[in-house]
Amino acid sequence: MDELIEYDVLIIGGAMVGGSLALGLLDSGLRVAIVDATKAETRLASSAGERAIAISQGSVRLLDRLGLWPSISGRAAAIEKIHISDRGHFGKARLSAEKEGVKALGYVATAHTIEMAIHNRLQKAGVELICPAQLEALEADESGAVITISKGDGRQKLRCRLVVGADGGQSTVRQLNHIEQEVREYHQTVISVVVKPGIDGKQVAYERFTSSGPLAFLPVEGGLYSVVWTMDDADVKAVMALSDEHFLARLQDCFGYKLGKLELAGKRGSFPLCLIRAKEMVAPRALLIGNASHQIHPVGGQGFNLGLRDATQLAELLLEASEEGKDLGDEALLKKYAGLREKDHKAVIEATDGLVRLFSSDFVPLALARNVGLVAMDHLPVTKSAISRFAMGLSGRMPRLQTGGRQS
Ligand SMILES: Cc1cc2nc3c(=O)[nH]c(=O)nc-3n(C[C@H](O)[C@H](O)[C@H](O)COP(=O)(O)OP(=O)(O)OC[C@H]3O[C@@H](n4cnc5c(N)ncnc54)[C@H](O)[C@@H]3O)c2cc1C
Repeated sequence: MDELIEYDVLIIGGAMVGGSLALGLLDSGLRVAIVDATKAETRLASSAGERAIAISQGSVRLLDRLGLWPSISGRAAAIEKIHISDRGHFGKARLSAEKEGVKALGYVATAHTIEMAIHNRLQKAGVELICPAQLEALEADESGAVITISKGDGRQKLRCRLVVGADGGQSTVRQLNHIEQEVREYHQTVISVVVKPGIDGKQVAYERFTSSGPLAFLPVEGGLYSVVWTMDDADVKAVMALSDEHFLARLQDCFGYKLGKLELAGKRGSFPLCLIRAKEMVAPRALLIGNASHQIHPVGGQGFNLGLRDATQLAELLLEASEEGKDLGDEALLKKYAGLREKDHKAVIEATDGLVRLFSSDFVPLALARNVGLVAMDHLPVTKSAISRFAMGLSGRMPRLQTGGRQS
């Protein structure tokens, strides 16, 4: 039988989260490879590449540490203000970078910009990318794990200390480890599209809660706006089938004229929404990060931000373990990772899910509560500041990469 190639860490899925982990492990001396089923260029050629990703201040620091921010920042738009409103109701809230004493509340870049920055850096650093190749089987024992991948020219087995599942919401690593998942259907779909505003948007992001779901306008490069329009599944087919002219009229009617008369500047894409949460983060010699562990509603713009914190936290633990000569697939180490990430996951998932439920309800007391909440938030600096810090990704515990010092 052929000798198996030995790795320290095999990362299944090399998109934004898996790619970030590989970058966090650069110069560690560890043998790391990424296995991905699709090439980044293919994956991002569709509207998936055009979707806007709101990057929190905390994530900016992490991306900087990973050497990525210089190549993303030139193509990212700063958010200086966020206006939150409830269509047809009185509540409004405004968050402002100036009042928070920061340059920006966050930044927005397309998924294409972020992922290509990661991809180019991985290539430059010579990180091994096995692609296109699909994970098919996984076996773990005391000394390591063996995975089977299928490639164009057949099947191959690879051996490693640790398998990291960064393979998205339908994670094969999760399935092969028989980790159950909690799925909450929102019966909603996001339509995303880029528009040109009729007036200068002045770097203001808008989050408007409508009866069918949240509608966000995020500033992107070149003075354009990326629209993230959530609606009930039942309405999506008809809205996607509308002519450009009728689609725009419907969007304008829903959003109003705060940005003047809108023009379409890109293709429409649709993304069905649900909350998928793996019931465990770890299994023997395997671990889940990013969407493989938690796929959340994009309303709060937190999915990638949360996944990036997973990746950097894990990189930090693996670097420490490697320096100390420990086994990278050791059960205690994996459990330590899960323990460190649990609180952050819970907080973001609950806040996002709560927001979706609160703002999709037409039930009068809830509608009233959310409007009183928005008004109160606009007048109570403490609440507002806490929400700004949450949106900026600065609340809670940060991985060491982010704080630049040892963890408390
Ligand atoms: C419309 C929309 C707007 C969003 N806006 C924001 C936002 O503003 N801010 C934010 O933080 N987040 C946002 N998100 C969430 C964000 O896009 C995701 O959290 C993030 O892309 C997850 O990245 P990931 O690397 O974990 O997974 P994915 O991007 O799903 O990547 C998984 C990778 O695994 C590979 N793969 C899958 N199965 C296998 C297999 N069996 N073998 C090998 N490879 C495999 C795939 O090819 C892929 O490359 C948004 C999401 C949507 C849909």
